[in-house]
Amino acid sequence: MSSRILPDFDLLLPQSIPEAVELLSTHRERITVMAGGTDVMVAMKFAQSPAKLPEFVMSLENVPGLGYVLFDPEKGLRIGAKATVAELLAQPDVKRHYRALWHAAQTFATGQVRNTATVLGNLLRASPAGDCSCAIYAIGGVVVLHGASGRREVDIDDFWLSYGVTARLPDELAVELILPPPAAGSRSAFKRMTRTSEDLAKLNVAVRLEMEGNTCVDARLAMGCVAPTPLRLTKTETLLKGHELTPEVLQRVAASVPWEISPIDDKRSTAEYRKQVSGVLLKRAIQDACGAA
Ligand SMILES: Cc1cc2nc3c(=O)[nH]c(=O)nc-3n(C[C@H](O)[C@H](O)[C@H](O)COP(=O)(O)OP(=O)(O)OC[C@H]3O[C@@H](n4cnc5c(N)ncnc54)[C@H](O)[C@@H]3O)c2cc1C
Repeated sequence: MSSRILPDFDLLLPQSIPEAVELLSTHRERITVMAGGTDVMVAMKFAQSPAKLPEFVMSLENVPGLGYVLFDPEKGLRIGAKATVAELLAQPDVKRHYRALWHAAQTFATGQVRNTATVLGNLLRASPAGDCSCAIYAIGGVVVLHGASGRREVDIDDFWLSYGVTARLPDELAVELILPPPAAGSRSAFKRMTRTSEDLAKLNVAVRLEMEGNTCVDARLAMGCVAPTPLRLTKTETLLKGHELTPEVLQRVAASVPWEISPIDDKRSTAEYRKQVSGVLLKRAIQDACGAA
């Protein structure tokens, strides 16, 4: 983080989910939720104008019972809104059954950031570079929101609307993420390229494959830093489904990726470079998921 001065704000510390929802309903666009604060604090320090600053910051610090990472073989993985990336890594079932997410968490920032940053905060930030977001997109799942009009679930496929914008309404608190139980033959992998290990990705990719022998019966492919939100490579997925993963098929899959992405030039990389390496990174992730890399 920088040495810039944090602007003034009122800190709100609800003691329960209903109290948090009530504060959100009252203050709506004038309030920002803070979990770990690793994005919120940076955004406030670097806000372009005072109009972009929230009047209130609502910390989840005193809301009890949201720091869990719970696995059930029948129901899947539940990650509470206060569970940090480090807490995710400490749950052995994550490494066993959700390898892409485990690897995204393992390569995420530094130990200091991992101890503070939450997994849900990564989704709610709606950055196209989010590492956990990319892995979760490939795995699939639902975000559970509590608002003034009750509880609802949003499929991760419908969660990111545009850069920095999610389907969460202003009066809703994200309470947990639920990932599906691992299917037989399911395997996943995550890869990312960065300038330095402490920086955000210049490109990241995650795959989840359902395999029967060497044949891929289902695939979800996600890529980050190549569009305004994390992106599902749905056209490329069709080149995998129902096919044996031969070198020719992998070559076709890799060649299809640049046609499906729309990266930009930014301080981390160029659009051209991202297009050049995107297919190779995806191919390596597929090989990694299948144990060949
Ligand atoms: C030095 C540094 C390195 C980083 N490296 C990486 C990296 O390698 N990979 C990566 O993906 N990211 C990285 N990040 C970004 C950041 O750490 C992640 O996005 C992190 O997961 C955000 O979690 P948080 O708990 O800190 O979120 P916060 O900053 O608390 O919140 C992030 C956003 O989510 C909203 N929000 C959070 N929780 C809720 C909730 N329960 N309900 C509703 N809204 C909510 C907030 O209002 C805000 O808009 C880095 C950040 C820093 C400062």
